[in-house]
Amino acid sequence: MKEPVDHIIRPSLPWRRDIGITECGYDASKVKAITRQDFFEREKELGKQRCAMMTCMTCSDTTKRYGAWVDDPRTAIGREVTWERGEYWGRGRSDRGILLKEELLAIEALIVAHRDEFDSIIDANRQRREWLEKKAAMKQKPSPPKPPRPNLL
Ligand SMILES: [Zn+2]
Repeated sequence: MKEPVDHIIRPSLPWRRDIGITECGYDASKVKAITRQDFFEREKELGKQRCAMMTCMTCSDTTKRYGAWVDDPRTAIGREVTWERGEYWGRGRSDRGILLKEELLAIEALIVAHRDEFDSIIDANRQRREWLEKKAAMKQKPSPPKPPRPNLL
């Protein structure tokens, strides 16, 4: 008999508290599931073939295709929008609830209530990013050419 394989926990949005679902769509609290990091470590340690025997193929493929919030919040939100609206292969579905929609409306309400704080965080992040870009540009800049040696002949 084939051993049941491990699924991979889908990276969640940072404000969510539940474990959520697996990359292939199961409730992660009801199946044997590992984290993305565990999966990538497993694959590195055991090799692709042995890892594939122990891990759900849909989860493995999916987790490699998508990043997490820490990689790029825009793609994480995009993925959640696509999931909740069920927009796959040109078809929509409405059986996945409205959690993200409710969260976005709550985020809007929080921003309205704390507008100055929101703006100052954006400003601070922009300043930090610009400073880091400047610092990186300084490192890449070649040192100025040395003045020509005086001709001693
Ligand atoms: Zn799976």
